[in-house]
Amino acid sequence: MTTNGVNGHANGNHLPALSTTAEDFLKHSYDYIIIGGGTAGLVVAARLTENADVTVGVLEAGKNRLDDPLINTPAAFLALYGNPEYDWGFRTEPQGENNNKRHHIPRGKVLGGSSAINYMMYVRGSDQDYDDWAAIVEDSSWSSANMKQYMRKHQTLEPIDESVIDRSNMPFVGENHGTSGPVRTGFNDTPMAIEANFIKACEETTGFDKKPTDPWSGDHLGFYNSLGCVAKSGPNKGKRSYAARGYFEANAQRPNLHVLCEATVSSVELTGDRATGVNFSYDGSAHTVKANREVIVSCGALQTPQILELSGIGDPEVLNKAGVECKVENKAVGINFQDHSMTVCPSLPA
Ligand SMILES: Cc1cc2nc3c(=O)[nH]c(=O)nc-3n(C[C@H](O)[C@H](O)[C@H](O)COP(=O)(O)OP(=O)(O)OC[C@H]3O[C@@H](n4cnc5c(N)ncnc54)[C@H](O)[C@@H]3O)c2cc1C
Repeated sequence: MTTNGVNGHANGNHLPALSTTAEDFLKHSYDYIIIGGGTAGLVVAARLTENADVTVGVLEAGKNRLDDPLINTPAAFLALYGNPEYDWGFRTEPQGENNNKRHHIPRGKVLGGSSAINYMMYVRGSDQDYDDWAAIVEDSSWSSANMKQYMRKHQTLEPIDESVIDRSNMPFVGENHGTSGPVRTGFNDTPMAIEANFIKACEETTGFDKKPTDPWSGDHLGFYNSLGCVAKSGPNKGKRSYAARGYFEANAQRPNLHVLCEATVSSVELTGDRATGVNFSYDGSAHTVKANREVIVSCGALQTPQILELSGIGDPEVLNKAGVECKVENKAVGINFQDHSMTVCPSLPA
């Protein structure tokens, strides 16, 4: 069913950038080592390797599953949760206000990260969020006005199927959307009557019937059909559009990109306060890879702080309790985590 880290995959595409063993990966020299081949990690890897003089190595704990029907088939997504082949399967601490329930927190453990297991709803942040962010970091390049070019750049908006006559719940303005980006988005070809009824019921119940002119313009408040990240045309028609497809497979011929799957990183190596390498395990053996320029930690909101803390970067009080020597004090690591809980996997052990 899948290829599990071999240098190619069943549909015949050869993926030279996929290393077959740790030795294969380690024979190259890297300017950048990226920890975590998920959504962010693969985007950064793709952008950096546009420059042929820059070498990038990506270490990903999960497998390459580009051929996996459970990931590719949009309707199969529920089968991925709680399955350790796809999901790290984290649980919260007991939540006191909720009968001490331990909620399941799904996180993708596969090349493509959580974009391989998510619900494929294509959403963007609000203008206000980006503008607040720019103000907090005092850097206007994070502002909504500046971010818009990147919103268009990453996206392809596929045309609405001609058979869809009633488009009243599919508002969009073309200029906010991209036409050639790696993330393929489209409206459902076969909307059901219940969807329009559901939207109407939401509007009546809340008394909020204003529709945004384009929910991807920076103002998304209202009820409407969402765009989904599913390819509507081309060789991957009907399949999930996700980071491994759009940002890795599309660039897997680049000689300056190397990705090792099933490689679990334990820590970043520091020389003083400078990150100079990465320690990881592969097939039961420990390895270290050097980074000539930078180490990029992109393990998601839960595991990025974990890797930093295991490397001695964090709050000394927290690290001391865990028996980790503090090498770089930073009390912001691992705090202020917020998430929207949604339990979909009762079969996991409590
Ligand atoms: C169930 C679910 C549904 C969602 N639905 C939607 C949706 O419909 N629309 C939407 O916009 N967003 C959705 N999201 C959110 C979206 O998918 C995430 O915000 C996004 O994928 C996070 O990207 P990331 O790069 O930060 O992390 P990830 O994509 O999770 O990547 C982190 C990567 O790091 C790897 N990793 C972690 N630790 C290590 C280690 N020690 N060594 C090596 N590799 C490691 C992981 O295996 C993973 O591949 C959903 C998320 C989930 C979990």
